[in-house]
Amino acid sequence: LRPVHVVGGGLAGSEAAWQLAKAGVPVVLHEMRPQRPTDAHKGDDLAELVCSNSFRSDDHTTNAVGVLHEEMRRLGSLIMACADAHQIPAGGALAVDRDGFAAAVTAAITAEPLVTLARGEIDALPPEDWDSVVIATGPLTSPALAEAIRTRTGEDSLAFFDAIAPIVHFDSIDMDVAWFQSRYDKPGPGGTGADYINCPMDKAQYDAFVAALIASDTVPFRDFETKTPYFDGCLPIEVMAARGPETLRHGPMKPVGLTNPRNPEVKCHAIVQLRQDNALGTLFNMVGFQTKARHAEQVRIFRMIPGLENAEFARLGGLHRNTYLNSPQLLDGTLCLKAEPRLRFAGQITGCEGYVESASVGLMAGRFAAAERHDVTLAPPPPTTAHGALLAHITGGHILADEADAGDEDKDARPRSFQPMNVNFGLFPPLADTPLVGEDGKRLRGAQKGVARKQEMARRALRDIVGWAGAYGLARKAAE
Ligand code: FAD
Repeated sequence: LRPVHVVGGGLAGSEAAWQLAKAGVPVVLHEMRPQRPTDAHKGDDLAELVCSNSFRSDDHTTNAVGVLHEEMRRLGSLIMACADAHQIPAGGALAVDRDGFAAAVTAAITAEPLVTLARGEIDALPPEDWDSVVIATGPLTSPALAEAIRTRTGEDSLAFFDAIAPIVHFDSIDMDVAWFQSRYDKPGPGGTGADYINCPMDKAQYDAFVAALIASDTVPFRDFETKTPYFDGCLPIEVMAARGPETLRHGPMKPVGLTNPRNPEVKCHAIVQLRQDNALGTLFNMVGFQTKARHAEQVRIFRMIPGLENAEFARLGGLHRNTYLNSPQLLDGTLCLKAEPRLRFAGQITGCEGYVESASVGLMAGRFAAAERHDVTLAPPPPTTAHGALLAHITGGHILADEADAGDEDKDARPRSFQPMNVNFGLFPPLADTPLVGEDGKRLRGAQKGVARKQEMARRALRDIVGWAGAYGLARKAAE
């Protein structure tokens, strides 16, 4: 078999290379370090963890990332095997000894006879005679390669910053306070004229909210992040608030064209809008609310908004250096570039977020590339699994309509609609029936229902990943 070339030996590239080799496919893994460093990596090992040493919750019964861990173990993930082997105590989280972990990944890859590790930067699109390539160069893709990808895919296809507004679980929004309506009842493409959720504020609420934003504790930019030019039209909400008390009322919180059906006579002083964020309608993002406020501050301040008092956040806002594709438009369902299918993408550059998610997308890319080499068709994992839900988010489960949304009043507040995301239950299709009775046979109440729903989604995911892996002969023991 001809080799598959994997570019980038991080979390995703190492996992992709391993999966290819385990499927009997030769691999050349290209890693530019140590010849060419990045602004965040410190050493030469593969799969270096650039910041925290945590893979987050390992609870596969009620937590989406825990489910992803467990699915990866069942699919024979190298990253999970090395993480488990180098685990250190961290309560319910899976934290690892970072040096031991990266050294173990490097040793396993180096010892694998089907993998050739080639140190050196790929500084242009891979040569034409590489007929199957996985590009997994991460959020800090070298500038030369990033520029080549941007030229190949188009001006707006590659972002260099993520400016993320918080994303809220729909079922945690108080719809007795908030209401559905588009500004001036204007339907966007595919919309109904009632596409946004609106949260009303009176003057006292607005003034208190603006004061809290201005006083909020923010995360400073890292040194290397300040080297990337700041972008207009995407200012943090707290920066806008600090420009003057009226700024937000004339920007993302403007109340025009909207009427509170519960109090139509009284004009709202300001309105916060949330827009549907996934096709399932389980997640809504806060329009124009990209922020550098610390996470605890965001929860505290955004819960001051009427209707969001009990909001649960699928992700909180942030602004950082990142390099990622507009994947829903560019990639097909098996992560190939539609315009040039020999190029597949994996890891954070596809628009997932996090160590574990990056590795899981590497796992899928490796498996898809291996199947292709063996001339067999591998269907994507079902969307009910954590892998499938993440893949659907990346390759098209995301709402794109707003990108073409003529007259979209907030288009200046968001550079694009597709934003990187950690795995979370909001990406999974809802259950047909919410469990009403607990395992002890007693009727569930309040928060218990949410827990039961997560447990059921987790069970469904693990059942379905086993079915998928079994159907394609992919299930392996991690230690293998
Ligand atoms: P990486 O792990 O970065 O791997 C990409 C590899 O490609 C690197 O080894 C790089 O040297 C190599 N490379 C780049 N360009 C080329 C080229 N042209 N030719 C050859 N090789 C190349 N996620 C978390 O879950 N927790 C965190 O605490 C966390 N902190 C982060 C901190 C920072 C500063 C950044 C930027 C990201 C952070 N992330 C974090 C997000 C993300 O999960 C990690 O960056 C993760 O490592 C992404 O995996 P990856 O495989 O896609 O990329």
